[in-house]
Amino acid sequence: SHSSNFDKEALLEKDRKYLWHHISPHNPNPLIAVSGEGSWITDVDGNRYFDGMSGLWCVNVGHGREEIADAAAQQMKTLAYYPLNQSHLPAIQLSEKVNEWLGGGYRMFYSNSGSDANEVAFKIARQYHHQNGEPLRYKFISRHRAYHGNSMGALGATGQAQRKTKYEPLGVGFQHIPPPYCYRCPFGKTYKDCKLECAQAYEDVINWEGPDTVAGVILEPVITGGGVIVPPQEYLGAVREICDKYGVLMIIDEVICGFGRSGKSFGHQNYGVKPDIVTMAKGITSAYSPLSATAVKDEIYEKFKGPGADTHFRHVNTFGGNPVSCAVALKNMEIIEEERLVERAAVLGVNLRQKLEVLMNHPNVGDIRSFGLIAGIEMVEDKETKLPASADKVMFIMAECKNRGLLIGKNGDTVPGFSNILTLCPPFVTTDEDLDFIVDTLVEVFDLLN
Ligand code: PMP
Repeated sequence: SHSSNFDKEALLEKDRKYLWHHISPHNPNPLIAVSGEGSWITDVDGNRYFDGMSGLWCVNVGHGREEIADAAAQQMKTLAYYPLNQSHLPAIQLSEKVNEWLGGGYRMFYSNSGSDANEVAFKIARQYHHQNGEPLRYKFISRHRAYHGNSMGALGATGQAQRKTKYEPLGVGFQHIPPPYCYRCPFGKTYKDCKLECAQAYEDVINWEGPDTVAGVILEPVITGGGVIVPPQEYLGAVREICDKYGVLMIIDEVICGFGRSGKSFGHQNYGVKPDIVTMAKGITSAYSPLSATAVKDEIYEKFKGPGADTHFRHVNTFGGNPVSCAVALKNMEIIEEERLVERAAVLGVNLRQKLEVLMNHPNVGDIRSFGLIAGIEMVEDKETKLPASADKVMFIMAECKNRGLLIGKNGDTVPGFSNILTLCPPFVTTDEDLDFIVDTLVEVFDLLN
């Protein structure tokens, strides 16, 4: 390894002694990141890695943005904190800009995380129905494979059993339907020869549960963490129609897909639908500061404006929408606008997808899917049977990529325990040479498999 000023062994020893990592507590050899610039990060040994997952699907404008650091410092010096039961400048300015990106008609409730934003969406949806004279509407419909957060409601909405058992009981009232997963259609159909059974499933569940008990649906435009599951083009429109037919609110989780990742400002804009509620986090600040938001249609907000306090939304979040995070988000959005990074993400996404196509020749690659600047490579043991690739094969690819300076993700859990979908979610500042590096590295590493 390269020379560095750190005693890695001593750091690792303290890491093992004091730190409880997410997902796996005993990662024996975690990458200890020290600095970042653009799409690349440097570890404690001085090794450089291409950040192929933008951290955790979030550092969209890239690492080391001094403009954002300056905006945060300036705001801290001017006014570090004020709560949003009153108001402050960055929150006002940010709300106007996000509303603009959404195409108008929304108002913003701020929190700190994607999980928070989804909890707020659920509470607002339930209270909305109360105030509409339909207090029995408390249920939400989500999909298997979906991830919506770590708190009891958001985890209830999550459709991945392996994340939920041991923590039950979770928030009640969450129903799950099969995802629009054409490669492994849960209805045994083939796209175009099907009746969009995956969308129809919403209507079936609404009817079985009773329409007067269903508050809303929650879905990402494309299931990201659950395996990059890209629905048929008509799917979201069909879900919107079903929601309208039954008075069910459509909540779109844009925590990953929002803020340019999809090649448009928000993921749902690729499908021409207008959600009732949009939740967002990660990309709102490119992860420079914790912030999330729940954007709610003006018509819904109207129901919360009554003269009596019983019509108000009783929900406080101390840090939510704090001035520093809002200033950071504003600067992040200004950078995206000035550098035309939404357009750049779209172009990068198309090019990445095109370059990845060569991997389809490999016997262990069953499917490649993409949405904007997100890509998923589904690994199988056999293209015919589609048996998910073994954990060993997936871990081998990831480890060999890391050895060559490329960090990628994995996800899916097609069968519990099998995370056989490799994921890519590079920063918007990825260069054309970086794209070649990603694909060349993957090709080289996959070649070692057979
Ligand atoms: N929704 C989606 C789609 C997510 O991917 C995530 C986080 N990975 C969340 C919600 C929860 O966000 P957070 O981790 O900020 O609570």
